[in-house]
Amino acid sequence: MNLVLFGPPGAGKGTQAKVLVEKRGLPQLSTGEMLRAAIAAGSPLGRQVESILAKGDLVSDQIVIEIIRERLKVADCVKGAVFDGFPRTVPQAEALDELLKGFGGKIDIVIELKVNDEILLERVKQRIEQGLSRPDDNPETLKNRLAVYHKNTAPLLVYYGKQGKVVTIDGMAPIAEVTKQIATTLDTKR
Ligand code: AMP
Repeated sequence: MNLVLFGPPGAGKGTQAKVLVEKRGLPQLSTGEMLRAAIAAGSPLGRQVESILAKGDLVSDQIVIEIIRERLKVADCVKGAVFDGFPRTVPQAEALDELLKGFGGKIDIVIELKVNDEILLERVKQRIEQGLSRPDDNPETLKNRLAVYHKNTAPLLVYYGKQGKVVTIDGMAPIAEVTKQIATTLDTKR
């Protein structure tokens, strides 16, 4: 099963993706994590994207599509994957459909974690207080990431909605409750 965990920055996609990795044996394909790894390694790609991540802007479609194209060739993706933070634009979603088609697959379900912007800003302040924040995790950058989300990424709900693939879950519920809702959704789908 190929599923997209969808939602604004800080909605809990990464947290829930890790649960799915453990419980369902699917790999997590997080372009954000892959880009941060490239930055940490100081690779040419990392140097190219570092300032873009720091500002909270989007890396070009071409770069992230190429990353996913390569990643999908790895054998652990044969049974599907959990896409976390990809796709983020309509051209990325179209490219993903094409790539999966090449493997005889498709996106089976899109799980939208719905969280209000105000709650996301509250969460980022808490992470800073707890010393758990990333470099792009501060109120100013988050505001830009949210604006980018509403402008470029939210239209994907229409793209996948037309295909009848979107299931919306209340991402403001406690983490364990969100996990349970996702599990129930996936079990009913099977
Ligand atoms: P994330 O960890 O998913 O929040 O991603 C962190 C940052 O990486 C984003 O703010 C973007 O700068 C970049 N990024 C991650 N995934 C994508 C994507 N699919 N398209 C464009 N930029 C991305």
